[in-house]
Amino acid sequence: MTERLRVIINGRVYTPEGVIEQGVVTVVGDKIAAAGETTPLLPDLTAAKVIDAAGLHVLPGLIDLHIHGLGGFDAMQGQVAEMAAELPRHGVTAFLPTTIAAPLAELAELLEGMAATIAARPPGARILGMHLEGPFLSPRQTGMMDARFLRPFRWEEFEPLQAASRGWLKMMTLAPEEGEALSAIPRLLEQGVLPSIGHSDATFEQVRAAVQQGLAHATHIYNAMHGFHHREPGVVGAVWYSDEVIAQVIADGVHVHPAALALLLRLKTPERVALISDAAPIAGLPPGEYTWGGKQVILEGQTCRSLDGRLAGSVALMDAGLRTLVQTVGLPLERALVMATAVPAGVLSLNKGALAPGRDADIVLLDDALQPQWTMIEGQVVYDALPGR
Ligand SMILES: [Zn+2]
Repeated sequence: MTERLRVIINGRVYTPEGVIEQGVVTVVGDKIAAAGETTPLLPDLTAAKVIDAAGLHVLPGLIDLHIHGLGGFDAMQGQVAEMAAELPRHGVTAFLPTTIAAPLAELAELLEGMAATIAARPPGARILGMHLEGPFLSPRQTGMMDARFLRPFRWEEFEPLQAASRGWLKMMTLAPEEGEALSAIPRLLEQGVLPSIGHSDATFEQVRAAVQQGLAHATHIYNAMHGFHHREPGVVGAVWYSDEVIAQVIADGVHVHPAALALLLRLKTPERVALISDAAPIAGLPPGEYTWGGKQVILEGQTCRSLDGRLAGSVALMDAGLRTLVQTVGLPLERALVMATAVPAGVLSLNKGALAPGRDADIVLLDDALQPQWTMIEGQVVYDALPGR
């Protein structure tokens, strides 16, 4: 059997070792065989399908650890296969669909259905599992969540959710200062669920105690936590301070001021920051009034807000976040893309997130304006806006 062979030529190729002008990426089957200046592995290219990426950036597929939906499709409605189908046009090749607070019985039912969909491996972006954002959050940092559904962490309440997820629960945002959350951190890690501090009102000391228990991830730093104060650095200060912790950040240009993004990157470096979209299900829809999680939200320009004026998720997907980091914050693309590829891949120990031999062939071509033009997932072309190449 001849394995499917594809060679991407002439593009600006981003490898872990550096950027190669006019590089070559060779894909055999579902894996990257080589990424470099030539095609050392290939004596004979006649059998290969050649993709001419002249004038394009060639980078690893983007990985979103925190997304609630897009295009009208909502993780809270179990529409994760539809999300998987929509995401490749944004350069996203893998993602963690993320739920919001809801009654426990409702959540358990939702997770069970979602687990079945994920196990069936629908086409499109790879669904890596689930991220539970709530209900174990602080009632003092609700964000757009419905406060009625928030509760302190209790292991006996978590257990049915874990069972319903059939092992697909990979990340859980929690407030470590509430209920039994602090002592649950090592147990969650043992079960393969990554605890992430978020929607938390914890003090600096409380966060440090959680880091001692193994906490190593933070949900959308700056949002749904109180601001930095020099006498009470809080969650923001503790995440800046703790090298162990990787911080998610929303880079839609609205949730976080570009200067606060720049400061975060100076304090933690891109290697310790994960770009997320936190996209709301209405991302990509026309302006107007919608409902999400039982609440009315208004989509206007680049923001989605609840009626009381709070930001309710973002409407910018991962490609838009990358554009903010490069075009507004001024980061070189090779630094910005780390936050959208290698970092999230490392967080979930995936064989993805880099153009390197043996990695999954998840590849995105971006034009000069950093708009995705072509997306490959595990060797399959799933999005192609390059007619005639
Ligand atoms: Zn969220």
